[in-house]
Amino acid sequence: MTRFLCDTAIPQDLLPDTPAAAADWLVAASEPYGLTFTRDGDRRTTDGPFGRLTLTVGTDALRLRTESDNRGLLERFRGSVTEQLLGLLGEDAAIVWTGDVETGALFADFREIRVAAVRDLTPRLRRITFRGRDLGRFATSDNLHVRLYLPPPGLEAPSWPRPGPDGRPVLPDPERRPAVRYYTLRRVDADAGELDIDVVLHGDDDHSGEAPGADFARRARPGDLCGMSGPYGLGVSPASWYLLAGDETALPAIARILEELPDDAGGTALIEVEDAADELPLRAPAGIAVRWLHRRSAGTASPLVEAVRALTLPADRAGLFAWVACEFDDLARLREHLRGCGIDRDRMLAVAYWRRTPPGASAKGISA
Ligand SMILES: Cc1cc2nc3c(=O)[nH]c(=O)nc-3n(C[C@H](O)[C@H](O)[C@H](O)COP(=O)(O)OP(=O)(O)OC[C@H]3O[C@@H](n4cnc5c(N)ncnc54)[C@H](O)[C@@H]3O)c2cc1C
Repeated sequence: MTRFLCDTAIPQDLLPDTPAAAADWLVAASEPYGLTFTRDGDRRTTDGPFGRLTLTVGTDALRLRTESDNRGLLERFRGSVTEQLLGLLGEDAAIVWTGDVETGALFADFREIRVAAVRDLTPRLRRITFRGRDLGRFATSDNLHVRLYLPPPGLEAPSWPRPGPDGRPVLPDPERRPAVRYYTLRRVDADAGELDIDVVLHGDDDHSGEAPGADFARRARPGDLCGMSGPYGLGVSPASWYLLAGDETALPAIARILEELPDDAGGTALIEVEDAADELPLRAPAGIAVRWLHRRSAGTASPLVEAVRALTLPADRAGLFAWVACEFDDLARLREHLRGCGIDRDRMLAVAYWRRTPPGASAKGISA
């Protein structure tokens, strides 16, 4: 397998302290991202979902190496490490990488895709089938999500972000810049060059222009261009009992996870939607009980939170895996409840998929 590498060195005179102190700072700054380093003499190494980062402490410099089996992941990884370094060195520092530095017009994990078909699965969920080339990297059960780059209304072909020399994306001018939102790959057929994304039509036509993702879906016509990068995210880990819990934004992921679980899998799937019209037929293992929760008739704003709290979980917490995705505040309550039930971090994936905007506040900066 090909291994792609990038190196950079930060000389002592650019560092605020010694190379060893800079390495310690980077190790601490990586912790919130779940990256833990092992130490071997002057070297500290961590293996994360993007690849490996090695910090080598010299007397004259701190040296960094990023490596990955995948050129696209290495590009993104290099960009993230650059962001970290700028936190240490200041925004104006020039970080120069050598090695497998991508100089192409687009990121290696970026694809242009075009709408091929649009159909409503429910009154509030619209399936968009896209066509694109070279989709092989997106056809994996491990990474279910992509970033969609949605052209501003009226602009047929926007400009796409491209890799800058330090690995960070160079953004197009604001008037040509696409909006970026996360979505789930509901289906990928790389041989046919086709994929499905199911988009929640939240809000209404009167507020179009305020939600680039839902607006794109509302006006999508065959031939419309959009961009996609990824794939990102994690699925479920093997378990003897699964809890899948989410709202309609998580429905595409839950539907896909249910289809891909082994036939003998057991557990419960709880899905919150507005009402019965939003339910979809799902293919699930016989041992997984699927329950739909209706906001309209629940008498509570968060029936998902109530339903998870009311569940009796199996006593063997280590054999359980909880996958939860929903609105930000609901997610915080669910995560707290599940942790309180003794479910360890590594037996749970809990991600906020969107955030309810408080009245009067702007949605900017909190969405995907
Ligand atoms: C990993 C991941 C995977 C996701 N997969 C999917 C998917 O497959 N399908 C899907 O539809 N969504 C999915 N989402 C959620 C989606 O990214 C967000 O709902 C996103 O905010 C939609 O962008 P927008 O431009 O429509 O609205 P934004 O511009 O982000 O928000 C505009 C306003 O709409 C509100 N809003 C946003 N989303 C919703 C909602 N669902 N219901 C009610 N109000 C809302 C916001 O609070 C804000 O006030 C996913 C999110 C993540 C992180």
